[in-house]
Amino acid sequence: MADGGTLTQANALQLRPVGRPLSSTSLLPMLAVMDLREFQEHMRGLYGAKDAARGRDGTFMYLIEEVGELAEACREPASHDLPGEFADVLAWLTSLANLHGIDLADAASAKYPVTCPACRAKPCICATKP
Ligand SMILES: [Zn+2]
Repeated sequence: MADGGTLTQANALQLRPVGRPLSSTSLLPMLAVMDLREFQEHMRGLYGAKDAARGRDGTFMYLIEEVGELAEACREPASHDLPGEFADVLAWLTSLANLHGIDLADAASAKYPVTCPACRAKPCICATKP
């Protein structure tokens, strides 16, 4: 992404470590983990002002650009930073949610409760979308 949204080592180290290795090649000794609400607040602190200046339409365009990059990475993971592309999509989605005043944790919990909202089973046993 052009101007941010990816957790760097510098800001990731300020987060709550939980003792799981990020990856076998990572320089980070601990995985920094945030729940979705914490991540959204983190993104608001990092990029809220820039997101507001850019606006919803421009932020949406960055999100779609990153979705395209994620598609490329899924097709050719060996030549892309696949985890980074997932993080970029989440970051831009979160920025867009911030601009719309949407709490992602609340929205996701409401839309996808404990069981499938259609069949009310867990795991889902719906005949559609296999
Ligand atoms: Zn279902």
